[in-house]
Amino acid sequence: MPGCSTGIAKPRQSPLVEPSVAATIVPAATGKSFVARAGQHIAVAQRDGGQVVDLFVFTYPEADEYLSAQHTRVSSGRLFPRAGEPFLSNRRTPIVTLIADSSPGVHDMLIAACDPMRYQLLGASAHPNCEQNLATAMREAGVELRVVPQPVNLFMNVPVRPDGSLELAPSPAGPGDRVVLRAERDVLVVVSSCPQDMLPINNGAPKDVDVAIYDP
Ligand SMILES: [Zn+2]
Repeated sequence: MPGCSTGIAKPRQSPLVEPSVAATIVPAATGKSFVARAGQHIAVAQRDGGQVVDLFVFTYPEADEYLSAQHTRVSSGRLFPRAGEPFLSNRRTPIVTLIADSSPGVHDMLIAACDPMRYQLLGASAHPNCEQNLATAMREAGVELRVVPQPVNLFMNVPVRPDGSLELAPSPAGPGDRVVLRAERDVLVVVSSCPQDMLPINNGAPKDVDVAIYDP
């Protein structure tokens, strides 16, 4: 029926990435996996703005190596890499490189993915979460999930105060803001639109995001 949304994600042209590249919608509060071959670009883009995106990267097809936040911090000497700098695997080899960022540059690599216990502790008995989104996306890709890595929390605003305390603040990302990565290996990328709606990080409600994999 014209104008009737099925709610099923389908490829579409997105002005948020490149004019010739079809982006895939990751619906709000869900996850999806993507295969990117070495050298391909991975764009993760806001649609409405203000949405945290949990990103996981595994080698493919053998997911025995994965993007490791803690190894990346040692390499870059920063809380988050700058454009041109790689994210390292748990074996300290580059797995993807940050090549462009049109957002305010506010991202997090300190906070664990939300999971069922996180929401239980906040008072919700059953709540969508990034850990289960990861598990579902990996199962659909036919790849065994052996470990839940600490995610790269794109667009997540976790300022470190002078006294060392952390704040979980609303994402400042705007509509159309995007991050572009280059795959340094053949990788399986899992993107989760963080379902967190009990804290202000997603500005009130989870939202759709766009992902595109393309040859540069
Ligand atoms: Zn989450």
